Amino acid sequence: MEEKTPIDPVEYRPALKKIRLRRLILWIVILAYLPAMMWALDSPEYRIRVTIVFSTWIVLLIIAVVFACIVRCPRCGECFHTHGPTFLPFRRCLHCALHVNADKRAAEAEPPKAKYAKK
Ligand SMILES: [Zn+2]
Repeated sequence: MEEKTPIDPVEYRPALKKIRLRRLILWIVILAYLPAMMWALDSPEYRIRVTIVFSTWIVLLIIAVVFACIVRCPRCGECFHTHGPTFLPFRRCLHCALHVNADKRAAEAEPPKAKYAKK
C-alpha cells in the first residue's frame, strides 16, 4: 500500500490569505453601514444622502458576498463558505473543515528553530 504524506498547511498560505482578505472586506462592508447611515442622517438633505448611502452599501455588500462565496478552499477545491445554496461565513471550510488560520497554527505548532537551538 502506498502511504500518503500529509500536506503541510503552510503550503495553503496564499489561498488562505485570499480567503481571509475576502472575509475582512465582507465584515468591513457590513460594519460600515451604521457609521455611513449616521453620517447620512446627520444632514438637512438626509433623504438624498440616505438613498445614495444605502444604494452604494447594498451594491458593495452584494459584491463582497459574491467574492466571499466563490473563494475556493485550497485543500478540497470546493467553495470555502458555500454549501449548496447556503452561504455560511464560518471560519472552517464547509466541506473539509480546513480552518481559515490553518497555516498560522501550523507555524505556531513548530518549535522555534534558530533562536533557541543549542550551538
Ligand atoms: Zn475544504
